[in-house]
Amino acid sequence: MANPMAPLIGITTARFVSPDTGWRYNRGYEGCIKAVAQAGGLPVLIPVSVDDTVLRAIYDRLDGVLLPGGGDIDPAYYNAASHPATYEIDKHRDDLEIRLARWSLEDDLPLFGICRGHQVMNVAFGGTLVQDIPSEVEAHLNHNVRDNRQTHAHDVEIDPTSRLARIIGSTRLEVNSVHHQSVGKAAPNTCVTAYAPDGVIEALEMPERKFVLSVQWHPEDLFEDDPAMMRLFTAFVEAAGGRTDR
Ligand code: MN
Repeated sequence: MANPMAPLIGITTARFVSPDTGWRYNRGYEGCIKAVAQAGGLPVLIPVSVDDTVLRAIYDRLDGVLLPGGGDIDPAYYNAASHPATYEIDKHRDDLEIRLARWSLEDDLPLFGICRGHQVMNVAFGGTLVQDIPSEVEAHLNHNVRDNRQTHAHDVEIDPTSRLARIIGSTRLEVNSVHHQSVGKAAPNTCVTAYAPDGVIEALEMPERKFVLSVQWHPEDLFEDDPAMMRLFTAFVEAAGGRTDR
């Protein structure tokens, strides 16, 4: 049974237009919803189709924010011209998630980023992105293994002094990989805490904060079989449960 006092975890959604009917939806990724619930949090979806005032009112009720995967971020947010491989831009979602990331940082509200969310956090805090790994990273691994989201695509090497290493309980981890972009220049005040063997940045955190952590892989597709991936969600939800001001 769910604890009614459990922390409320906002998870952002993506616009979806049905190709059959043209009907418009906001949809959330099921893995993130299930992982947050299993970690003891109360997952709530944050609609993407709301204006700033409604967004702020929703945000003010939350104990933690999870930014999940999705399409690419408009490169204008990090002052770059668009690469031909950059796709699925939704400026409204970019803007909404960047606001949420900045508000969370300002209030030290626990913030967890996954894949696109990891990239959104880096951009929101002043970093840049690699717009297309295959065309911009020499001797790159295959980071875009899309047929099965549970596939072990590559390892990551984790900084032993990081919060990530403490949560995972190891400095080496097998991860899935469903991305063609990555963090370029890490934002000021963030620490890079994991690299793939080809040098691609796979995790960031802000050690001074209660919980500001992001990963490039998809723990929400692995947590059911991998306790280390589950611990990412438990650590996040536990940090979110620590609010005392309401
Ligand atoms: Mn990867």
